[in-house]
Amino acid sequence: MLTPTDHRQKALINKLEQEAGTSINLCYQCGKCTAGCPAAFAMDYPPRQVIRMLQLGLTEMALNSNSIWICASCETCSSRCPRGVDIASLMDTMRREALKRGTTDKKVAAFNKAFLSNVKNFGRTFEAGLLLQYNLTTGQPLKDLQLGLPMMQRGKASPLPHKIKGRGEIKKIFERVAQIGGEEP
Ligand code: SF4
Ligand code: SF4
Repeated sequence: MLTPTDHRQKALINKLEQEAGTSINLCYQCGKCTAGCPAAFAMDYPPRQVIRMLQLGLTEMALNSNSIWICASCETCSSRCPRGVDIASLMDTMRREALKRGTTDKKVAAFNKAFLSNVKNFGRTFEAGLLLQYNLTTGQPLKDLQLGLPMMQRGKASPLPHKIKGRGEIKKIFERVAQIGGEEP
């Protein structure tokens, strides 16, 4: 008989699957996703194990893993999977769920917010602004100063953002995400 916790986990897994548009039960643990993942070496649990955790109902463990944040969304795993499991989409869905629950490491959440806010405002990342926002919100304003100033002097980093064309369209994407329940950076 399922306990209330089992029911909650099942409901969460259904939600993740629905949002990611994929099914974890298709996975037969062949490991092709992990073998091709360029970031697996830095993850605490490689993609195959993250899927296995979800199959076993270990949702908290999966949502608290650093794997979902190390994932570079390159989609190699999804294209290699012989069962058509969209692992990259699941990783993305889990990142959003972890942010919503506030279980994410504060520095990871601050970096995520700074990155998205850069893309929203300039249409691309503005490295100096990204680092400044991240360092200010994490209470370390002088961090990277020693590295950043010489880089700017040598023209390796710009003190001003380069804006791209079509920023209006990018802003509309963010507005649309907010309309459907996503969080604005
Ligand atoms: S490649 Fe697909 S089937 Fe194989 S372990 Fe990864 S998710 Fe599972
Ligand atoms: S999308 Fe993420 S999990 Fe998949 S191969 Fe790329 S880095 Fe690895």
